[in-house]
Amino acid sequence: MQAAEILQKHFREYYSSHPVKGPLNIENREFGFGTFGQKISQRHLLFGNENELNSFLTKEVPLFLSYSAAYYKFPDKRPMNNKQLIKSDLIYEFDADDIKTECKQEHDKWHCEKCHASGKGLINNCTTCGERVITEEWICGKCLEATKIQLYELYSLLQQDLGITKGISINFSGGKGYHLHVRNTEIESLSKSARIELLDYLTLHEISIVNHGFYLDPNSKQMKCPLPSQSAGWSKRILDTIIKKIEKGNTEQLAAYGGVRISTVQKLLQEKETIILNINRGVLQQLPGRKTEAFWTSVIGNIINELRLDIDRQTSSDIHKIIRLPNTLHGGTGLIAAKISEEKLESYMPLQEAVVFGDSAIKIKMMKETPRFEIGKENFSSFEKGQEVELPLYAGIYLIAKGAADGS
Ligand SMILES: [Zn+2]
Ligand SMILES: [Zn+2]
Repeated sequence: MQAAEILQKHFREYYSSHPVKGPLNIENREFGFGTFGQKISQRHLLFGNENELNSFLTKEVPLFLSYSAAYYKFPDKRPMNNKQLIKSDLIYEFDADDIKTECKQEHDKWHCEKCHASGKGLINNCTTCGERVITEEWICGKCLEATKIQLYELYSLLQQDLGITKGISINFSGGKGYHLHVRNTEIESLSKSARIELLDYLTLHEISIVNHGFYLDPNSKQMKCPLPSQSAGWSKRILDTIIKKIEKGNTEQLAAYGGVRISTVQKLLQEKETIILNINRGVLQQLPGRKTEAFWTSVIGNIINELRLDIDRQTSSDIHKIIRLPNTLHGGTGLIAAKISEEKLESYMPLQEAVVFGDSAIKIKMMKETPRFEIGKENFSSFEKGQEVELPLYAGIYLIAKGAADGS
């Protein structure tokens, strides 16, 4: 049997016994589906109700199913304008691809079709000839955890800075990360430009530190900072991070961040208490010579890079975007895009908990070499290309969906 057929056979079985809940106002949503290796091959579909959706899932068995964040009068009309937009949810997407984690060095690799160079890790362009490379990406518990930390940050930003507390739901994407959906009356009518503004705020896009209260006072020649007692939002977060790094005495990092010698920071940190006292009255410590402004601007710039959220820009600003329907299967992994409650989020382990297929044996043949990988509660060794193995169904499905194996 071929990969797509094997997946469809098992997906059909799953959907037959696990009806999927449709999104709110299903009749106003545009749907799209995907086939093997292609997340969206067709869109502009309409399901009048949940039954229609579920009968499509069991009959057609799409390998991916997405729905629109937007609500339309006529979701199936084309072109887009004819759909008549009513309103739209807000969706944020976090992908392990966008976050630089060290584990990529272990599980990802690349090769260049032009000069045949290859290597480990995730890069865009060939290190030898500069041509765009073909990458092979895997995920592990570590990069998914890093993605979850970003999701948490967003969650608290939405609540604390923007007062958005209602209508937030979170789900595993089924692949490399998490999706956060906001569905409430305050945000649904935001225009595209308002959404971009919101995104800029969340990702500190082209942020001006002067607007956030960090600047060189031309009269006193002092580097000013906002008063901790009066700061809020990002100003407060930046300031808190500066204070934390000084209190911890993170000398090497501060030197690297500020572009000065370690000895300069060592000297500076001898006066830790004074630095903190000064910050409390809105002044960042003076450095010897004329380095003060450059040092602090550079430190703050690096702290901003550390704090900014790696939200997928396109997903959250595109009002017409369609995104995986929660609780449907992901055809690139066989995992379920499970909804996760706020209480469960912290301990949620996608590579274990999003597994839906059992452990009956399946025989597969490796189509390419694989790295060591984890799925279910097990860690699997690497496999050679051409190797035939018998694996638990969930692991076999995972490799087949990833295009690493086929039925044997
Ligand atoms: Zn090359
Ligand atoms: Zn990883």
